[in-house]
Amino acid sequence: MSVPSTIFALSSGRGPAAIAVVRISGPRAGEALKLLTGKLPTPRQAALARVRDPASGEPIDQALVLWFPAPQSETGEDVAELQLHGGRAVIAATLAALARLPGLRLAEAGEFTRRAFENGKLDLTAVEGLADLVMAETEGQRRQALGQLQGALGNRAESWRQRLIQALALVEARIDFSDEADVPEDLLKPALTIARELIGEIAAAVSDGSRGERLREGLTVAIAGPPNAGKSTLLNRLARREAAIVSPYAGTTRDVIEVHLDLAGWPVTLLDHAGIRETGAPVEMEGVRRARDRAQAADLVLWVADAGEPAAEKNAAAKGAVKTPDSTDAAPPTWLIRNKIDLIQDEHRSELRIPSIGKNEAISDPNNSLTNIDNRSLTHRNESRDFTSEYEFSLSATTGEGFDVLLGQLARYAEAFLAGSESALVTRERHRRALEETLAALRRAQSADVAAKEDLLAEELRIAARALGRLTGRVDVEDILDVIFRDFCIGK
Ligand code: GDP
Repeated sequence: MSVPSTIFALSSGRGPAAIAVVRISGPRAGEALKLLTGKLPTPRQAALARVRDPASGEPIDQALVLWFPAPQSETGEDVAELQLHGGRAVIAATLAALARLPGLRLAEAGEFTRRAFENGKLDLTAVEGLADLVMAETEGQRRQALGQLQGALGNRAESWRQRLIQALALVEARIDFSDEADVPEDLLKPALTIARELIGEIAAAVSDGSRGERLREGLTVAIAGPPNAGKSTLLNRLARREAAIVSPYAGTTRDVIEVHLDLAGWPVTLLDHAGIRETGAPVEMEGVRRARDRAQAADLVLWVADAGEPAAEKNAAAKGAVKTPDSTDAAPPTWLIRNKIDLIQDEHRSELRIPSIGKNEAISDPNNSLTNIDNRSLTHRNESRDFTSEYEFSLSATTGEGFDVLLGQLARYAEAFLAGSESALVTRERHRRALEETLAALRRAQSADVAAKEDLLAEELRIAARALGRLTGRVDVEDILDVIFRDFCIGK
């Protein structure tokens, strides 16, 4: 095996900042640290050192340095860490000095973590958890990511795999030593018992309604409706920044704009859609197509309509621009937002009841369509229910009137949608696929014609174990052999 190169990188954010952390990992890390600071500090103890350019001898900075000899380091290799002053010139001079040392090179993206994985410091699910932790935008996401980093799914999957290997060892023993008098006849039954127990546990983890994936990605809310209804204005108010271009001309929002929000600790992704309408312009057509796809994949649609034009809102909905909840297949729930109430004259406004909802009055449970709310108090008076919106709001995106009701309701909806998701084991499609593959193999193993045939049974168990091994990134067959000869002491 070739000696791995020694890598280095700025591990903290780009300067200027109070402190910059430069990490070095690999067989030459200690040597590099000695060349830069003249000494190797006591392992895992911070030491103050003067950092010099080894080529010129010129001092670069005064730094706190740390030394983690292999294997007790983050990557499992020798690791040195420099805590420098975070000025750009300091960082640049240090990185340049390191680059000039033989056998050292700048790390590629994710390379430290990759080495940690290769050295068995992290399994794949923990690597993913680490990536998610760095990207986490809300408390819910942070807790979920930390759970994965600490092995929520990885440890579970590994223990499932160990039990599968036990089952497989029983079946393999039956195959290999079937002629021997001292091998117990019924090794298959306990193997099948293990398989049955695993089916129960893995099926339970998979049938979580994709809650983990939902939390990771956030509640997706599509803002749709006819052009000029005020979608972009509403989005900006929701995002509290100028995320979408607001313009008085129809069709300016050509593509899907995505804004990530933290609503009371819950992640919400808002999608603003190109004014959905029939159009001939190719660029816009593409935008409209994408808008439709994404609106239909959203968890919730806010259908924005001009409150002064009730006919328009119905036409737009009837056109099928966005599936309304009465569509046959599972379309996302749609809330009707009557916008621009500031333009409606006072005598007409009394007809348009603006909902006022106390904090505890309404509980939006995404699974039951808002059963606790007296719908009549929220709908347009005399509204025929041909727009089958599950929830309706009247507001002004420009003045902000009525906006807090929507925001509060959205936050509660997000919470009801995402609460409890942090404990879900499956946080990615990859996890789900691996577990489903495992389940399928285990179920085949249970079927009568397979269960009776040792070699077929062994093969299904092997497929199941491999799927779990791919989940954690730990596929090897050696340990199957180890278990056979350790646990069975057949004496061969
Ligand atoms: P979109 O095409 O649906 O994204 O609509 P925009 O957000 O671009 O808004 C179209 C026009 O309506 C702009 O001139 C906005 O300033 C205006 N507008 C949006 N919301 C309101 C509102 O609540 N009240 C009033 N008076 N004007 C609004």
